[in-house]
Amino acid sequence: MSVYLVLLGAPGAGKGTQAKHLMEALSLPHISSGNIFRENLNKQTELGKLAQTFISDGQLVPDDVTIAMIRERLEQDDCTMGAMLDGFPRTPTQAEALDVILADLGGELDAVLYIKVTQEILVRRLSGRWMCRAAGHVFHDEFNPPLVPGVCDYDGSELYQRDDDRAETVAERIRVYINQTAPLIDYYRQRGLLVEVDGDQSIEAVADTLMAALPEGAVQ
Ligand code: ADP
Ligand code: AMP
Repeated sequence: MSVYLVLLGAPGAGKGTQAKHLMEALSLPHISSGNIFRENLNKQTELGKLAQTFISDGQLVPDDVTIAMIRERLEQDDCTMGAMLDGFPRTPTQAEALDVILADLGGELDAVLYIKVTQEILVRRLSGRWMCRAAGHVFHDEFNPPLVPGVCDYDGSELYQRDDDRAETVAERIRVYINQTAPLIDYYRQRGLLVEVDGDQSIEAVADTLMAALPEGAVQ
């Protein structure tokens, strides 16, 4: 049986950080739409070039492009037992498309893990975030520092600060989240899929809360 989970939350809520903990515990591939866009951007593929202006302006990449990208990723062999989606869906249209994709794959969405964080905390998290070039591992100069400054603990690659983590872009990304993505909270709550956790706690406390809140069957 496959298990499909979605991590939902504002930019900086800790989705990528928790995905790392969860993928180790659940043995599911972590699919981050933001990471896939950034990989394409680095390689300057057509998709990367298309996504570039939207990302640097703090806007969402258009639904059709994003949905096609996620469909292609979910169809890959490593997702036959399921996947943990991070950053997708971000609009009602994407949420509807996800149901269709999962049905085509013979599965369905098992749970949406919503990490709820207050806005002031989001801004502090994003302004101190450092990301690794090789695999998108995430650190924070105050809350989750790497062992050696500027170097990824996991793969030794260089850490950098994302362009879209600048204060002006962060404000726009949070606005976009509130207008376009936050409606998904109620949508999934009404469908009985939402698992809400307090993301204002430490990384370890959020990880423990998430593990305890996972629906039966998710831990294989
Ligand atoms: P998202 O994927 O939701 O955008 P990240 O996982 O990249 O968020 O986390 C944003 C920043 O906040 C990172 O620098 C990360 O190290 C830090 N962080 C994540 N969760 C917590 C937490 N519970 N407490 C403090 N800092 C956190
Ligand atoms: P993230 O790494 O999740 O913070 O995403 C970085 C940027 O990639 C976002 O600000 C968007 O521009 C783009 N992006 C990521 N996921 C999506 C999505 N599901 N839909 C549209 N744009 C996305």
